[in-house]
Amino acid sequence: QAKEQGRNSYQYYTQALNDTGQDRLALEYALNQALEREEFAVYYQPQIDTRTGAISHMEALARWQHPQLGFISPAQFIPIAEQNGAIVALGHWVLRQACAQAKIWQQLGMSITVGVNLSPRQLRDGALLEMVDQTLAQTNLETSLLELEITESATLHNLTQAQSVLMDLHRMGIGLALDDFGTGYSSLSYLKQFPLDTLKIDRSFVMDLLTQDKDVAIAKAILELGRGLDLRVVAEGVETEELQQLLQNFGCQHMQGYLFSRPLPALEATHLLQTQQSTRAA
Ligand code: C2E
Ligand code: MG
Ligand code: MG
Ligand code: MG
Repeated sequence: QAKEQGRNSYQYYTQALNDTGQDRLALEYALNQALEREEFAVYYQPQIDTRTGAISHMEALARWQHPQLGFISPAQFIPIAEQNGAIVALGHWVLRQACAQAKIWQQLGMSITVGVNLSPRQLRDGALLEMVDQTLAQTNLETSLLELEITESATLHNLTQAQSVLMDLHRMGIGLALDDFGTGYSSLSYLKQFPLDTLKIDRSFVMDLLTQDKDVAIAKAILELGRGLDLRVVAEGVETEELQQLLQNFGCQHMQGYLFSRPLPALEATHLLQTQQSTRAA
């Protein structure tokens, strides 16, 4: 019921937003206060290792529940936060939540790596390394249980600077994933220059795999690339068993998508992990 309402108000708001910069300004204003007002939440979406069926990673995804406007999608507020700089504080908050959550899971006997999205603006922020280091120390989380997801983006213009930051994160033992792979710019040079651990095949290449030969060729090529470069390749947006089967036939081992689970609030994510843990033990 509440979900339904949230969706309705979100649709309504999307329509209203198509007008002028006025709405954007209102959203920007609301965004700046949203952290203090505790309107954000972090949801977690599992990544499955299909060879074992186990959840290996959980991606942290920001959610904004505005008291009047209802649920606002990250596709709407992340770009605004990115432009006005609010993403730095928001990103820090999401990272802290996610690291604390991974620590809780570890204390419950489950070694789950959390994936946290990093925006280009954060990557350009001179204080990023210290922020990440401090957050890991404060939450007492091992660096290997954190994977940062970066997107290929035109705004990643200072390659040398990005490369040096990523090298430092890598040296700290933090995992690095290239998100939405194939949709941005200069992806192949990123593969060469960044110390990556994971490639995430964008959902746009995954969703029509059953009908589109071009997508099949692209997905297979990315998987081959991943094998050659010794990267973990995760298919995003796997919604059906047919898709899972096809991807497995192509040698894809890691998947994320509604077939396995939608992004869940922390408590529900924990319950899901515990259910898995007990089925395995039994
Ligand atoms: P992303 O990092 O590529 O995250 C995956 C998105 O795909 C999520 O959307 C997730 O809910 C959605 N998704 C997963 N499986 C399926 C599926 O089977 N079908 C469909 N239709 N969708 C699926 P979400 O949560 O709306 O986030 C959208 C984007 O917003 C993210 O894309 C990410 O780029 C950005 N984002 C979200 N949270 C954060 C954050 O804390 N920081 C930053 N910088 N960006 C964030
Ligand atoms: Mg991501
Ligand atoms: Mg992605
Ligand atoms: Mg994506």
